[in-house]
Amino acid sequence: MAITGSDLSLYFHVPFCKSICPYCHFYKIYYKPEMGKKYLKAIERHINTVKTTLENNNIVSIYFGGGTPSLLDTQIVEKILTLINPPSKNIEITIEINPEDYSIDKIKKYKNMGINRVSLGVQSFDDKLLKILKRRHSSKKAKDAILDIYRCGIENISIDLMYDVLHQDFKSFQKTIDEIKNLKITHISLYNLTFEKETFFYKNKKTLKNLMPDEKESLRLLNKAVLEFEKLGFKRYEISAFAKKGFESFHNIGYWIGRSFLGFGPSAFSYFENKRFRNIKNFQKYIDAFNLNNPYIDFEEELKYPDNINELLAIHLRMIRGVDILKFEKGIGKIPKKTIEILKNSKLVDFEKNRVKLNKQGLLFYDTLASEII
Ligand code: SF4
Repeated sequence: MAITGSDLSLYFHVPFCKSICPYCHFYKIYYKPEMGKKYLKAIERHINTVKTTLENNNIVSIYFGGGTPSLLDTQIVEKILTLINPPSKNIEITIEINPEDYSIDKIKKYKNMGINRVSLGVQSFDDKLLKILKRRHSSKKAKDAILDIYRCGIENISIDLMYDVLHQDFKSFQKTIDEIKNLKITHISLYNLTFEKETFFYKNKKTLKNLMPDEKESLRLLNKAVLEFEKLGFKRYEISAFAKKGFESFHNIGYWIGRSFLGFGPSAFSYFENKRFRNIKNFQKYIDAFNLNNPYIDFEEELKYPDNINELLAIHLRMIRGVDILKFEKGIGKIPKKTIEILKNSKLVDFEKNRVKLNKQGLLFYDTLASEII
C-alpha cells in the first residue's frame, strides 16, 4: 500500500487471556506461553508489510490492547516498539494491564521502553461485583496495582469501570467512587454492561437481565458517576471518558475525530484513506497468512460520500466539545442537508455558532441519534 504522510496511530491487539470474562466480546483466546513468540513473528512480518506506510506517516500514538497485553514477555513488547521506532519519545504509548498480571519489574521495564500510559481493567472496587464479572483480581489488588504503577514512574493511569452490573446497587457504586478519591488515577473510562453476542451473559440474557439495575436506577448510577467524577476533577470529554486536565487520551481521541490508524494482531481494525479493514479474526490464520503470503485482511469496506461523512460525524459527536462544522467540512466534505435536518429535528444536539454538540438528552440517547445519522 503506498501512502502519503499524515498523523497515524497504531493499535496492537494481543488476544491472550488467562480466563474468559462472561461479558467480553473482544477476540481472545486462552493464553499459552509459547504463543508469545508466534505472535511476535507475525507482528514482525505485518510491520514489514506496511513498512512504507509507517515510514511515510507521522506515528503519533501507540496502544497495546487486548486481550491482555501484560501477559506478553516484556522483551516482546520492547521488540515491537523497536521495530516501529517511534519518531519521538514523547508520543502517548499505552498498555492495557490486568491487575492480576503485573509485577513491579514489568512496570519498570515498560517505563524504560517508553510506555507512558497504563490502562487498568479494574471494572469495580466491590469484590462482590468482581466475582459476578468473574474477574480474577480483588479490589485490593487493583488498588495495589495503581499505587505500584504510580511508584514506578508511570503517572498517566486510566481505569475501566462498569455500571449496570448484575446486582449492582447505589451503595456498591458509591463504594467504588469513594475508592477513586484516594487513588492516583488520571483517567476513567465508564461503560455500562451490555449483552454482546457470543458471550456467556448473552446466552443467559433472559434470566440475567432481571438482575441488572432497572432503567431508572441505571440513570441514577450514571448521573452519580458524572457528578462525583467532576467533583474529583475528572472532566467528561467523551460520552464514556473522563480525564483530569491534560490527561485526555490522545490515542482514543483519534478514533473519534477520524485520525488514521493501523491495527496489528488478529481482529484488529484499521482506518486508512477512507477504507476500514480488519485483520483475520483468528490467531492461527493470521499467523498463517504471513507465513504463506496470503491476504491478512478478512473484511474491508470503502466508505463513500455521504456515508463517510455521516459516519465520521456520528463518531465525532461523541466528544463533549462537539464538532466544529467548518473545520470538519474542510477535512472531509460538506455535511449532507438531510443530516443537518436530522440533527435539528432530533432535539438531542445544540447548535452554537459553527459548532454542534450533544445536549443533556443527547448524551443519554446518543445511540438513537447515531443510528439515525448513519
Ligand atoms: S475482559 Fe479482558 S481479560 Fe476478560 S476476557 Fe475480555 S479481554 Fe480477556
